[in-house]
Amino acid sequence: MPNDMTIEDTVQELDFTELDPFDVAPLRLTVDLQALTDNWRDLSARSGRARAGAVVKADAYGLGIEDCGTALYHAGARDFFVAVASEGATLRPYAPEARIFVLSGIWPGQESLFFDHDLVPVLASEEQLAFWMSVLSERGPYPCALQVDTGFNRLGLSVDEAIALAQDVSRPASFSPVLILSHLHSGDTATAESNQAQLSTFGEVSRAFEGVEASLSASAGIFLGQDYHFDLTRPGIALYGGEAMNALANPLRPVATAEARIVQIRDAKAGETVSYGGTHQLSRDSRLAVAAVGYADGYLRNLSGSGIALRETVPLGAFGFVAGERVPVVGRVTMDLTIFDVTDIPARDIQAGDYIELFGQNMPLDEVARAAGTIGYELLTGLGLRYERRYIDPEI
Ligand SMILES: *Cc1c(COP(=O)(O)O)cnc(C)c1O
Repeated sequence: MPNDMTIEDTVQELDFTELDPFDVAPLRLTVDLQALTDNWRDLSARSGRARAGAVVKADAYGLGIEDCGTALYHAGARDFFVAVASEGATLRPYAPEARIFVLSGIWPGQESLFFDHDLVPVLASEEQLAFWMSVLSERGPYPCALQVDTGFNRLGLSVDEAIALAQDVSRPASFSPVLILSHLHSGDTATAESNQAQLSTFGEVSRAFEGVEASLSASAGIFLGQDYHFDLTRPGIALYGGEAMNALANPLRPVATAEARIVQIRDAKAGETVSYGGTHQLSRDSRLAVAAVGYADGYLRNLSGSGIALRETVPLGAFGFVAGERVPVVGRVTMDLTIFDVTDIPARDIQAGDYIELFGQNMPLDEVARAAGTIGYELLTGLGLRYERRYIDPEI
């Protein structure tokens, strides 16, 4: 509102019926599906002779499994990975001809969820295998995948169990794995010796399952070279524009832009303190923008400028971006509100109602994540329910 206008003038000027909810939302998220599909094509090309799948677990890393799944399917993805069966059921109508793998496998009682939605369980333990054999004896042939643990110590059959299974001549003919997979624990570090070790172990296991497709690499492994690609890659974070590799400039396009509206701009005097605990004392007369985002929206309390233990090891809190400048968070992030120091932005360039970018086109997701001592994955998957979302459709 220009300074010489009264509130009544402003109210008369607005025609409320024309306002798009996105344009007035306190908190909003733009998901660029063109960038998403460009990233998938890029990762597909980097996967060389292997096909690129798409990991869309956790609601497509918080960005919406329906919209992201649809866009990826139309771009050509035909192998999707979810963590749990209910996610696969949600995805199925948007990816009708695709294979949907459920990474955590199957539990007794979930059979119809898998069969009704045509989901492929990724079996990871002897117990799951035994259960699956009993399912097959009743139902007949149905595809499954096998996860083998090659050093992560998370999910998977041991290498010995997997090789014994491959060589077991007594296994039923209805047991027909379509994919064997494993996961690198340090794929993001190109120099980690464990990558080579996991690669050679996985090579041995995949040779034992002759004729079955193999998959080792998530986003990071795609960047480790063609030896790591096998038949199918499983990019997740890189699709959504997050950093996959340490020590490598991120070559992918940002997909999500999160913005919070400035509810109020306040003048505050040198010596005053800001936010809970009064942990930030102003060293100069300041202008503060109070934005409608807080830790309830996944804008983590660890992003605070001060007043948290993390600042002893990571000295700076997060920055937002507004009016072409980076502006620091001051004091503690609160549940619904966060305060940014906008003193260095000329008063004419910023006003209540403007939006501060939290991460996205101008504030790299991973840089914000690092201020909280975490990774882009956690910021995306924690976005919460209050964002008004807008999807930018890809050009067909
Ligand atoms: C989450 C996950 C992926 C995707 O990992 P990104 O690092 O996000 O690319 C691939 N494979 C498995 C087994 C996973 O759990």
